[in-house]
Amino acid sequence: MTNLASQVMVVGSEVVVVWADGHESYFPGAELRRACTCAACRGEQHLFGRATLPTLTPLAAPAFQPVAAVLVGNYGLKVTWGDGHEHGIYALDELRTACPCTQCRAARD
Ligand SMILES: [Zn+2]
Ligand SMILES: [Zn+2]
Repeated sequence: MTNLASQVMVVGSEVVVVWADGHESYFPGAELRRACTCAACRGEQHLFGRATLPTLTPLAAPAFQPVAAVLVGNYGLKVTWGDGHEHGIYALDELRTACPCTQCRAARD
């Protein structure tokens, strides 16, 4: 298992990370956006399945639609959202750990 990504892309409403070892992770846009760690969104920093706090201002649908995904160095992933938001950088380590695929879920349980 590696936490280095070779490619990232947006497919439909999901952000896809292709890891250096060939594994692919599909992250639903809505869950990624809710986990945004930037200063403006801070307060919902828990990735996938852990407790999240209710938002004060509910986000509109475009906020959950990823429009672009780029790698930042070899440690992060930056996503641009349909509402123009693009300040959050997701740590690749955390993303790999939180891979929602059946195989990784089973390995975590
Ligand atoms: Zn944010
Ligand atoms: Zn996986």
